Amino acid sequence: MKYIVVTGGVVSGLGKGVTISSMGRLLQACGLRVTAIKIDPYLNVDAGTMSPFEHGEVFVLNDGGETDLDLGNYERFLNLQLTQDHNITTGKVYRDVILKERRGDYLGKTVQVVPHITNEIQDWIEKTAKIPTNEDGEEADVCLIEVGGTVGDIESSVFLEALRQFQFRVGTDNFLLCFVSLIPILSDEQKTKPTQHGVKDLRSLGLSPSVIFCRCPEELLEPTRQKISNFCHVQADHVLSVHDVTNVYQVPLLLQQQNLHSMVFKHLKIEPKSGPDLGDWALMANAMAHWEDTVQICLIGKYNGLQDSYLSIIKALRHAAIACEHKLDLQWVEATDLEENQDTMEGESWEKVKNCQGVIVPGGFGNRGFDGKVLAAKYCREHSKPYLGVCLGFQAAIVEYSRNVLNLEGANSTEFDESTPHPVVFFMPEIDKATMGGNMRLGSRITKFTNPILTEETGATSILKRLYNNVDMVHERHRHRYEVNPDYVNKIHEGGLRLVGRDETGERMEVAELPGHPYYVGVQYHPEFKSRPLIPSPPFFGLLLAACGKLDSYLAKQATENK
Ligand code: GLN
Repeated sequence: MKYIVVTGGVVSGLGKGVTISSMGRLLQACGLRVTAIKIDPYLNVDAGTMSPFEHGEVFVLNDGGETDLDLGNYERFLNLQLTQDHNITTGKVYRDVILKERRGDYLGKTVQVVPHITNEIQDWIEKTAKIPTNEDGEEADVCLIEVGGTVGDIESSVFLEALRQFQFRVGTDNFLLCFVSLIPILSDEQKTKPTQHGVKDLRSLGLSPSVIFCRCPEELLEPTRQKISNFCHVQADHVLSVHDVTNVYQVPLLLQQQNLHSMVFKHLKIEPKSGPDLGDWALMANAMAHWEDTVQICLIGKYNGLQDSYLSIIKALRHAAIACEHKLDLQWVEATDLEENQDTMEGESWEKVKNCQGVIVPGGFGNRGFDGKVLAAKYCREHSKPYLGVCLGFQAAIVEYSRNVLNLEGANSTEFDESTPHPVVFFMPEIDKATMGGNMRLGSRITKFTNPILTEETGATSILKRLYNNVDMVHERHRHRYEVNPDYVNKIHEGGLRLVGRDETGERMEVAELPGHPYYVGVQYHPEFKSRPLIPSPPFFGLLLAACGKLDSYLAKQATENK
């Protein structure tokens, strides 16, 4: 196994994740199998209990792991299926060492950060790198490891010490260290001092980078490259310019132009199997710049202050827009704004909803903004505006339908009103109310299209099922505590809204669709987590196709092809 470790300096939020994913994509384009590990030096065991406002979205894996959003970047860029072990946190490492100490595994020894914690980290990396994460189920050739935070943080020092030891454990031919840094521009000059200091800090810990990625608003100038090379003890052609480009999909191309793959092969003594050939990826990255048509989608959220809170949703919308060959114009709407102006339905937020071509209501927790989401669902239902509700957005559509079409006054989710006369969405019986971490219905579960007929007269089947290529069952990821109350399903069906997909027991509602509407779909699961740049998630693809006015022709074409 070859290891590529990436650390970062100067500031956080540099785009370390995109840089690493892009490097992985380039290596894949040379025929290598790649896997990825993210190290998060915080004490939380996982990201499940973290506020989206503070930390961005919680990314959910197939195995139910609730992780940092960078794992999403890896899965999307590299088309991987990671596990919770691929996200190493200080909390997890200490928890395991303390458990071993209590069991007596250390045979009376004094248990210390060095060597016990540092060994645990190294063992963890070696073990996890071998877990197959590629579609073919084979072990990877190269493992990318991102160390979160910045060099010099107290939190990350134990991981850097573990990695210092690790380079000798696995052999220096199998270990490549990279550093991602910031080159700010002041008075028209590219400044190298922060990078020099960052590398100095890293070297003082016994780690010397072989490649430096320079994040800069503009292309790195030759004198800047030379200066960094001189002061940071790195070959000049190993100082790479990662300047701003028109879209993130260009970054693997940027790295290819600077021959990153050749450096990696030389250092790690690997024979490339082919390429590099970025194929469809390169075509997509280059074509995007030339699209003229724009599609406007409103995202009705409550964590809008930090756009990373909805990262996978935004990515899934983008992937779907790419497949429709449209530029995405994403409009942010605060759900509470819709509530405040519900009588007049005027003001900036309502105008956005009225003028856009489609609406997405994503997942969320807590009362604030829920009624605004219900109002958005109502507006879309009544005005034939394409609507996709994900998790809480699905529950909002159910509540809206119950209140306004079935006339169940006061219908609600028990998450927001425990004494509602019509608990159309309620707490799942098996969930434990006493703890917070890792106790939801999490990870990949089956949804069967058990009632795919939308309209009895015509026999028309679920649009969503057709978008999933007419399969009978899909595997999507979940993260929820509440669900549609089965006691209300008959009533909902009688009203006209169809619950077309259910879990394997048939008790748990997973998909709702409104017949006769251009696209009105709600899903209890989170399809955004499995969307890929070249393979958009079907519910999102449907929303964008409908918003661009292409859904009918797409479905008609699909039907003739299947004949
Ligand atoms: N709060 C809702 C629940 O727990 C929805 C969760 C979500 O949107 N992820 O069921």
